[in-house]
Amino acid sequence: MSPGTSTTTSDALRVEEAARKVVAEHDPRSVPSEELLGALFDAGLAWVSFPEGLGGLGLSRGLQSIVDGIVVDAGGPRGFALNPIGYGMGAPTVVEYAQSTEQARDWLRPLATCEDIWCQLFSEPGAGSDVAGLATTAVRDGDEWVLNGQKVWTTLAHVSRWGMVVARTDPDQPKHRGLTYFVLDMHQPGVDVRPLRQMTGQAEFNEVYLNDARIPDANRLGEVGAGWKVAITTLMNERTAIGGVAGKRGTGPIAEALGLWSAMPERRTPVLRDRLSALWTKTEAHRLTLARARRTATKGQPGPEGSVSKLVAAELNQDVYEFCMDLLGPEALLYDDYTLRRADRIGHDPGATLQQRFLRSRANTIEGGTSEVMRNILGERVLGLPGDMRADSDRPWREVPRG
Ligand SMILES: Cc1cc2nc3c(=O)[nH]c(=O)nc-3n(C[C@H](O)[C@H](O)[C@H](O)COP(=O)(O)OP(=O)(O)OC[C@H]3O[C@@H](n4cnc5c(N)ncnc54)[C@H](O)[C@@H]3O)c2cc1C
Repeated sequence: MSPGTSTTTSDALRVEEAARKVVAEHDPRSVPSEELLGALFDAGLAWVSFPEGLGGLGLSRGLQSIVDGIVVDAGGPRGFALNPIGYGMGAPTVVEYAQSTEQARDWLRPLATCEDIWCQLFSEPGAGSDVAGLATTAVRDGDEWVLNGQKVWTTLAHVSRWGMVVARTDPDQPKHRGLTYFVLDMHQPGVDVRPLRQMTGQAEFNEVYLNDARIPDANRLGEVGAGWKVAITTLMNERTAIGGVAGKRGTGPIAEALGLWSAMPERRTPVLRDRLSALWTKTEAHRLTLARARRTATKGQPGPEGSVSKLVAAELNQDVYEFCMDLLGPEALLYDDYTLRRADRIGHDPGATLQQRFLRSRANTIEGGTSEVMRNILGERVLGLPGDMRADSDRPWREVPRG
């Protein structure tokens, strides 16, 4: 998809009318969520920037917030919240690289209704920030590929129907050139998913062992050996998705901090008041930046601004929950529920305490790319500073020392 025009009033009205019609015909309070989300897909409102017939209307990305606002105000779900990796990263990658429109549609509709949850199998024990150094192999066998290797930190793999996987198909090429990208059936023999428990007790993510797992060549996204380019599409969308959307003023984590501040007058000090004001201002600046970015969003792929937002959102979230812990005082140490809980959504635990949210927030500056890596991207792609040292970019992957 090439970048399109920015929002016009008639496009906005068209989207608003279409969304109101779907919500009127599929009342979110009485129909199952799959039905409503399916109707939104059929009306081109799942991702308004996608082509018609594939859940979109070919309009600017920024118009999506009109649909989301109408659905949520009517009591409906945001598909993104139920299937974040599918909506935020799987769908934009499929729409850009699927081998046929029929195949894209076959994947996208059940993804949109959240009947099929998606996960992302990129990270490996020896390849996180340097994901292009990954060692999982895919070897061609007729019309299929046979995968062997180990993935790690695979969020929601335990509830996923499909996984986006990058594998090495040519170890004699430098690391970025010998990779190929596939969509993996997670329900087949040879895919072994094991929980990884976090310090909250939850196990949102997993290790995934691939032992002769087979993938039809038809499930390849992009050309053989060009998987890095496809992976970049997923990663750029991931940062934008994690960086958040502009919500209403004073909602989200900052609302929790304010609520706690109101509930604990006895613990207020001028220093804490100062910190809370600074956090509120920063949250508001981030929210307004997101709103401005949304207004100028086009049909094309997100750019490095997604990394700015991801970086700020992650650090801000940690600072807000750290403030809450300081305000709570000794009570902050009261966290004793380490029961293994298998989340079916990211960060979703209806009974989560502030202490639990604080512990979970420690992952924000790691997941989806660390803050150090985000700063490298900003330095290189936004500020035009000299690139990070890359000693192995031109060497065949097979010859690069690993350990
Ligand atoms: C909650 C959570 C969920 C996740 N979910 C998924 C998922 O669903 N799918 C998936 O594929 N992965 C997932 N990940 C993995 C995540 O993408 C990686 O953890 C992340 O990219 C960092 O890689 P690493 O852990 O191997 O650390 P490393 O890459 O080993 O980094 C270690 C440290 O070195 C720093 N560093 C590394 N390279 C540089 C550099 N060039 N310049 C400056 N500093 C550098 C890092 O910033 C970090 O501080 C998840 C991680 C978390 C915490």
